[in-house]
Amino acid sequence: MSLVVENLHVESGGREILRGINLELSRGEVHVVLGPNGAGKSTLLYTIAGIPRYLVKKGRIVFEDEDVTNLPTFERVRRGMCLMHQFQPQFKTVKVQDLERMLISKFGGNELALKARDTLDIESLRGRYLFTNMSGGERKRLELYLTLLTNPRLVLLDEPDSGVDVDSLVKIGEVINMIIDSSLSCILVTHRGDIVNMLKRIDRVHVMCSGRIVESDGKEMLEKVLRSGFRRVCEKLRERFD
Ligand code: ADP
Ligand code: MG
Repeated sequence: MSLVVENLHVESGGREILRGINLELSRGEVHVVLGPNGAGKSTLLYTIAGIPRYLVKKGRIVFEDEDVTNLPTFERVRRGMCLMHQFQPQFKTVKVQDLERMLISKFGGNELALKARDTLDIESLRGRYLFTNMSGGERKRLELYLTLLTNPRLVLLDEPDSGVDVDSLVKIGEVINMIIDSSLSCILVTHRGDIVNMLKRIDRVHVMCSGRIVESDGKEMLEKVLRSGFRRVCEKLRERFD
């Protein structure tokens, strides 16, 4: 098993955000997570990645048979877990080429990242300050490339398709297909049908509402949910817990 999330309860800023998430990903599987704004999708990915402001109150996270619940983020990255953020912070003193060089010297570089670098048009961004004054498409393309430089075996993608132009979207879709071809495990959070329709394979789809996974099913659920919205699915949750 690549990743097992067991009965995960998470608090941040003094409130409970995740209320008992269960998730299992076999090695090489691609799971899509959907849900309305505020459902807790980013919180789930942040917590799996070990971002400290998300406190695990109950449950555990197991990556490749090791309990990583209490490991710091860098230890998780070292083991092959890597997160691409929904919003990229701007660094006004670090150039892209410097971080790229550092990641290559630390992680050794890899063929997938090299291929992604060309597909994602990274060349023109090298001399820029990290994410500073970059367009949505540039930021997402760049972070996807930098994520792959850490040699991940589990890639957590938080809305890699939001706020990007159509050309960037196609490039990002191509690289996610390279991730799928390379048999890496992947959790993709998205709101959009166009990126999921580009993907070669999706093994499972989960819908989150109010900090819980309400429904999990095969790819066929995507179309239903993206067509009719989340309301009907989320109502089921209310019936169950109210
Ligand atoms: P999604 O990614 O599904 O839109 P988030 O995980 O970003 O949802 O947020 C889920 C809920 O938790 C939201 O109501 C958000 O305001 C709240 N939240 C997220 N992070 C924090 C935090 N650090 N402090 C307080 N509330 C937070
Ligand atoms: Mg989010």
